[in-house]
Amino acid sequence: MAKNSTTREAAPPTQIQAFDAVVVGAGFAGMYMLHCLRRLGLTTRVYEAGGGVGGTWYWNRYPGARCDVESLQYSYSFSEELDQEWNWSEKYSPQPEILAYANHVADRFDLRSQIVFDTRVIAATFDETSKTWLVETDRGDKVTARFCIMAVGCLSAPNRPLFAGMRDFRGPIYHTGEWPHDGVDFTGLRVGVIGTGSSAIQSIPIIAQQASQLTVFQRTATWTVPAWNEALSAEYLKHAKAHYPELRAKARARPTGFYFPFNIQPALQASAEERETQYEEAWKRGGLPFLGSYGDLLFEKAANDTIAEFARQKIRGIVKDPATADLLCPQNVFGCKRLCVDTGYFETYNLPHVRLVDVSKTPIERFTAGGILVDGVEYEVDAIVSATGFAAMTGSFDKIKITGRRGRTLAEKWRAGPRAYLGIASEGFPNLFMITGPGSPSVLASMIQAIEQHVDWVADCIAHMRDVGASTIEPSREHEDAWVAHVNDVSTVSLRSTCSSWYVGANIPGRPLVFMPYIGGFPVYVQKCNEVMNSGYDGFALEGARDCNAPPRIHFTERWQVPLDMDVISPAAVAAKRVPVV
Ligand code: FAD
Ligand code: NAP
Repeated sequence: MAKNSTTREAAPPTQIQAFDAVVVGAGFAGMYMLHCLRRLGLTTRVYEAGGGVGGTWYWNRYPGARCDVESLQYSYSFSEELDQEWNWSEKYSPQPEILAYANHVADRFDLRSQIVFDTRVIAATFDETSKTWLVETDRGDKVTARFCIMAVGCLSAPNRPLFAGMRDFRGPIYHTGEWPHDGVDFTGLRVGVIGTGSSAIQSIPIIAQQASQLTVFQRTATWTVPAWNEALSAEYLKHAKAHYPELRAKARARPTGFYFPFNIQPALQASAEERETQYEEAWKRGGLPFLGSYGDLLFEKAANDTIAEFARQKIRGIVKDPATADLLCPQNVFGCKRLCVDTGYFETYNLPHVRLVDVSKTPIERFTAGGILVDGVEYEVDAIVSATGFAAMTGSFDKIKITGRRGRTLAEKWRAGPRAYLGIASEGFPNLFMITGPGSPSVLASMIQAIEQHVDWVADCIAHMRDVGASTIEPSREHEDAWVAHVNDVSTVSLRSTCSSWYVGANIPGRPLVFMPYIGGFPVYVQKCNEVMNSGYDGFALEGARDCNAPPRIHFTERWQVPLDMDVISPAAVAAKRVPVV
């Protein structure tokens, strides 16, 4: 067993160090994975491309960045002490505070000593003889490990569309997902923002406060609901903390992995007046739970039309110029792409120095030295903000050459779309685990909960392998195929499968169109994971094990043995695959 090392100098590049586990990424997933592996006594090395912990919250420092799941729930739940000692300042806390929280966790649980920063993993190769992974980095490190855990993030590979003339542009071009650490001062500048997804929606109102002129280039109008963000009072926090364990338990039982009041009744069974009242109340509460106004909104187009029309009326009520309001009114299914949560987004278009350019029919032609050309018109800008999102779910896997059995790469295997059993492991790649991989609820759940459930499952799995003396674990092709088919099958029931979102990889030309996250609901998925584990890893082959199918000793996953919340997930809904997911 190798000694853990904090400094790059400790290991000359030519010397191959051996670890029990290598974790790639030090966001919330990588940090918690390290914590659990240490509790198991495994020697672990974490590689992180960034200069610090926090992942998403390390990279996405654009103005206005904040979470859209309430902070009291968008946080780790594995430590009651941590829950009690940390104070969130706002309902939806801003990026600096979430990053401070990540740093606090790293210090509190003494994680930094095993993380090597500013180092990108470029290759991971399985050696069938030694049954270990050889992991290589862009700094020349070579280490081996029995387990390789990909905690690389679902939204961590920025999408930078190549526009003609990019090199001609004289000003700076920023991507929201790789924002300069010193911040950017747009005071007095003419700024162009490309995109109107969550990152744009959050940053546009703030950039507009600084810029002398703001031009937004919109390809698809976006559904967004007001956050009604607010400071959390000391009394509120005290009350919330007194009931934290109950809140966490209720969250685990919900399809989204976070708790909020949810109305399971179908919109189509309510009268128009009832719907208006219901939507108005939900709008006043704001945020993602707005989509929980009724139970059929993501299954019945006619039901969805009612919430869509309500939201369009809100846009028309806010935006004064009718032509701009029309452009801002989405025509696609409400909540089909990831719903956004905003503060003052539509109001921004009432400012005299803000304009909206439609690039849906006439795409951005090119960048010029001084601006952006669309349909023959040059829009002059001094700086460009590319809020163009990510190569979601698989983008960070694509950047690593991952080679499994018989020299086959993951890229080859995933050419027509990602394939993984439970979104945790892929056949042909033994002892390689993915945290919130494709085929798991991941981005359709509150992600920190999804991360914790995966990490706990993987930690118990590794402990079981040690108990039974298994050298490798790997899913069977048959079980993987069945799971991938199930993930596809369930997705077709939801209206979410009908639009060109990043959920299906449609935001980037050339990607295979496959609905990647599991949409059947978080607790349904957790039950499946529990069943697989309790049955002695049904669907997995354990090599070299003495008693491989013995039921495992459950330690980390104990807290996920939760009953389904029958208010929301009735057996009939599960059978019909109609589990509402916000
Ligand atoms: P990440 O935080 O993405 O961390 C992955 C890390 O792996 C990164 O630091 C990256 O540098 C590193 N990495 C990747 N490849 C390599 C490599 N080859 N070598 C070394 N290091 C590598 N989710 C919610 O549930 N609620 C929210 O409110 C919410 N808000 C979000 C806001 C923004 C702006 C974005 C972009 C996402 C948001 N998400 C939200 C999703 C968010 O990504 C997750 O909540 C969570 O932070 C993911 O943690 P992670 O550790 O899995 O991945
Ligand atoms: P995104 O939702 O994918 O939005 C990217 C935007 O860029 C879209 O409007 C897209 O248009 C546009 N775009 C992409 N390529 C373009 C091109 N060539 N020309 C013109 N427009 C182009 O990315 P994101 O806003 O970064 O958000 C990604 C995800 O991260 C979110 O869905 C969410 O899960 C998470 N996130 C959360 C928050 C939060 O509120 N907590 C904040 C930011 C991000 P099309 O729609 O037409 O493709």
